[in-house]
Amino acid sequence: MSYVFNPPAVASLPVLGRGERFPIHRIYCVGRNYEEHAKEMGFTGREPPFFFLKPADAVVAVEAGSTAEVEYPTLTQNLHHEIELVVAIGKGGKNIKAADALQHIYGYAVGLDMTRRDLQNEMKKQGRPWCIGKAFEQSAPIGPITPAAQAGNIVNAEISLQVNGADRQRSHINKLIWNIAETIEHLSAAWELQPGDLIMTGTPEGVAAVVKGDVLEGAVTGLTPIRLQIV
Ligand code: MN
Repeated sequence: MSYVFNPPAVASLPVLGRGERFPIHRIYCVGRNYEEHAKEMGFTGREPPFFFLKPADAVVAVEAGSTAEVEYPTLTQNLHHEIELVVAIGKGGKNIKAADALQHIYGYAVGLDMTRRDLQNEMKKQGRPWCIGKAFEQSAPIGPITPAAQAGNIVNAEISLQVNGADRQRSHINKLIWNIAETIEHLSAAWELQPGDLIMTGTPEGVAAVVKGDVLEGAVTGLTPIRLQIV
C-alpha cells in the first residue's frame, strides 16, 4: 500500500508493565454523568446518557512519573479541567449488555476532558455542535493504562484533581449516574465498539478554569496518576 503522503502516526497510550502501547481508535465521552456536576451545569434528574467524541490525536499521552506540557488552546478565555476515569476497550462489539460489558474492558486510566467552556456554552445556547469546545488538539491528556486485572476495585475508587496543590475535584467512581457497564451498553447500541476505543466516563463536580503555568495532578485510586502543566 502506498499513500499520496505519509499517514499520521497511530495515537497511543503506554500500558503499565508492558513495552507495547495501546493504539487508540476513537474517544467517546459521556456528558453530565455525576449528579453534583449536572447540578453545577444547571441540570437535575436522571436523563439517558449522551455522548460526544474527541479525535484520537487529541490525546496527550502522559507518561508515568513525568510532567506533560499542554498548550493553552486558541480562542478561549475559559479553559476548564474535567477529571475523568477513562475506560479502554480491548474487545469490540455492538449491543453489548451491561452484564457482559466488563469482558470488553482492557483496562483503565486517568484522563482530563479539557474544555473550552466559553465556546461550548455559546454552542449550547445556539443549539450547535460542541466540537469547538471539546474536540481540539491536546484536549485529552491521559495517563498510562492499567490492565483491568491489576486495577483493583475501580467501582469504589476515589477520583480527584488538584491544581497547584489545592483540591479542585474529589469524588468517587460509585457516584457515576450511569456506571461503567451501563455506559458500555448504551454506547454500543449506537456505535460498534472497537478494540482501541477509549471512553471518558464523565467528570464529578468542581470543574473550573486553569491558566498558563498551572500544574494539574489527577488521580484515581489504583491507577497511575497524571501530572501536567499548562504552557
Ligand atoms: Mn467530560
